Amino acid sequence: PLNKASLPSANGARTTTTLSSDSVLALNTGDPTVFEPFWQKMGDKCDVLIRGSDLMSYYSDKNNVCWFLEPELGDAIKRLHGVVGNALTDKRHIVLGTGSTQLFQALLYALTAPAAPEPESVSVVSSAPYYSVSLTDCDACTFNEDGRPYIEVVNSPNNPDGTHRGAVVNGGKGKVIYDFAYYWPQYTAITSAADHEIMLFTLSKCTGHAGSRIGWALVKDKDIAEKMTDYIAISSIGVSKESQVRAAKVIGVLCDGCENVGLGESENFFEFSRNLMAKRWQKLREALKHSECFTLYKHPREHCLFTGEFTKTLPAFAWLKCKEGIEDCNEFLRGLKIAGRGGKAFGVDPIFARVSMLSREDEFNQFIERLVVATQGISSGH
Ligand code: PMP
Repeated sequence: PLNKASLPSANGARTTTTLSSDSVLALNTGDPTVFEPFWQKMGDKCDVLIRGSDLMSYYSDKNNVCWFLEPELGDAIKRLHGVVGNALTDKRHIVLGTGSTQLFQALLYALTAPAAPEPESVSVVSSAPYYSVSLTDCDACTFNEDGRPYIEVVNSPNNPDGTHRGAVVNGGKGKVIYDFAYYWPQYTAITSAADHEIMLFTLSKCTGHAGSRIGWALVKDKDIAEKMTDYIAISSIGVSKESQVRAAKVIGVLCDGCENVGLGESENFFEFSRNLMAKRWQKLREALKHSECFTLYKHPREHCLFTGEFTKTLPAFAWLKCKEGIEDCNEFLRGLKIAGRGGKAFGVDPIFARVSMLSREDEFNQFIERLVVATQGISSGH
């Protein structure tokens, strides 16, 4: 059967094509197109006008540590954290990056830039399963600190499995990077305003505007913030001002919608996106209820300060574990024409695989259909 699907054309407008049952579903990356319908509903509210003479300088605010950060974006970021309550912004420097990917590199530079003439090697560790940043040297749980310097990356809620995480290495010579890409109400309960030395956030997973490539770090230590800014100056002399202006606008519209209580779910981005994620997770759990192939992790409900309710965890990824008899989960998925990412890429066994829950609706529905067919196929002996 052929299923109608919409794909973006080169200019971003959507054109209708067909998604055939033979085509491979590319669910191996977390491209957050699931949130497009909300922004379509916002109509022209997020439009920005940029004139030919606007934003021509490299600089935004020469008095700020991060001199290429547009003040209106800095203000929007502070407002956003205030509205959501997921992180403290006072007495912190905001360092902007081309996605949080660039900020991670900037941090590796800032935290290892040698003060001494003989640079020491620094291990970068994270507990498995971990987001496959190529620079993660080893599993934090088995890392023997021995007084050596190290950097621990804590991703909470964690990509790929959605669990809440804290630092696991207990050492004096370590620095911890808290990657809070998914610490937003559509994925998880907001349990407290995070108050760490170094925290990373990204627009990609918050609003879904991954294409704008906007990420930010909240950093207490001025010296670290300055070194990060230096790195970004060396690598790209700042971050696109057009992206910054758009991000400020989108964040502003999002915050207005959250603060205008009484306008209904349709204006509140986090209510809208939480409902979308909840529906998807319900469909997935339903599809795998009697599955002889896969199991899913069960997350506890937690009290969310943003919604004021006990809420389910609705991770951005399905972390599938194969049941006995299937050794390579990703290979098995490939047989169903579903492209995921195997456990090995996250430092664990291939019986696990990660599949994105953030695709467009038509792709998601195909994903569910294929899982159901596989389950039925196996139980009826095909
Ligand atoms: N951290 C985590 C845990 C992620 O999953 C991602 C995106 N997949 C990033 C950081 C980077 O996001 P971006 O570069 O789009 O800001």
